[in-house]
Amino acid sequence: MAHPIPGSDGIPTNAIVHGACESWWTGNERSHCGGCHLTLSSLSAFDRHRKGARCNDPATVGLVARQMPYGLLWGWPGPEGGMAAARGRTPA
Ligand SMILES: [Zn+2]
Ligand SMILES: [Zn+2]
Repeated sequence: MAHPIPGSDGIPTNAIVHGACESWWTGNERSHCGGCHLTLSSLSAFDRHRKGARCNDPATVGLVARQMPYGLLWGWPGPEGGMAAARGRTPA
C-alpha cells in the first residue's frame, strides 16, 4: 500500500498520517497509540487503553469502536445526545 497522502486518494487535506503504520485519521482531539496503532477518539480514551502502562484491548476496558472512513475509531460509549441525554431516565 502506498503511503497515504492527505489531499489525494480520497484522504482529506486535514488528515493526520502516522507514517509508521500508514494509518490516517482526522480531528485534533484524536490520540493514536504508538505501540499497537489503535486510533482513539480522545486523550481520556487513550489513557484508558493504556491503563496499567500497557496496551489493553479497548473492548475490555469499556471503549467502543466506531467505523470511520479511515477505519476503526475507539472511544467512549457515550450517547450521541451527550451527558444531558445520559442523565435522562428512559421510561420502561
Ligand atoms: Zn500508527
Ligand atoms: Zn496501544
